[in-house]
Amino acid sequence: MTLFELVKQNICVPDAAEHYELQVNRNGMCSCPFHEDQHPSMKLNERYFYCFGCGATGDVIDFVARLFGLNSYEAAQKLAQDFGIDPDKPPAAIALPKPERPLLKAYRQEEVRCLQVLCDYLYLLEGWKQNYAPSNPDDSLDDRFVEACQMLDYVEYLADLLIAAELEQRVKIVEMLNKDGLIAGLEERLDRLKKEDDAHEKQSAA
Ligand SMILES: [Zn+2]
Repeated sequence: MTLFELVKQNICVPDAAEHYELQVNRNGMCSCPFHEDQHPSMKLNERYFYCFGCGATGDVIDFVARLFGLNSYEAAQKLAQDFGIDPDKPPAAIALPKPERPLLKAYRQEEVRCLQVLCDYLYLLEGWKQNYAPSNPDDSLDDRFVEACQMLDYVEYLADLLIAAELEQRVKIVEMLNKDGLIAGLEERLDRLKKEDDAHEKQSAA
C-alpha cells in the first residue's frame, strides 16, 4: 500500500480538518480556509471536501497540501506523522471512516432474532408448565406440560449462552438454530399460537 493510500484510508477529511483546528459543525460544514468565508460553506465528507463558495475540492491530502502550502507527498507525510501512521507498520484503524461490515450486521440481527424467539418460547413453556400440570397423579399428562418439562432447561440454557457466551460460541449456536430452519419453524409456531390465543381471548370476551 502506498503512503497516499494508507493516509487516505486511515484519515477522513473531517478528522483532519478538526485536527488542524477548523471548526466542523454537525452537518459536516466548516468555514472555508481557502477563501474569505463568512459562513461555513465548505462541506466535508469522509473522503472529499467541497466549497460551495470558491469551488475548492479534493481529498484529505489535497486539503492538507493546500492548507499548509505543501506538495501532495509532503502533505501525505505530514498527515502520517500527525496521526501517528507508520507507513512500514499500518496501525489499527485510528480516526477513520468506519468500514461497513455487512456480515457482522447481518449476524447481529440474526442473533437478536434467535434470542427473541427463544425468550418467547421460554415464556410460553413456563406458562404451560404451571397451567397444565396434572392436578392428581392419575391424570393423563397434557402435551404442553410434557413439552415444557422436556424443553425448558434446554431452551433456558441456549438463551443464557446467547446472552453471555463468547462470540465464537454464540456464532455456533446461531448457526445451529438456523440449520434446517429450526428457529424459523419455532417462530412460525409461536406466531400461530399467539394468534390462536388472541382469537380465543376475543371469543371469551364476546
Ligand atoms: Zn472556499
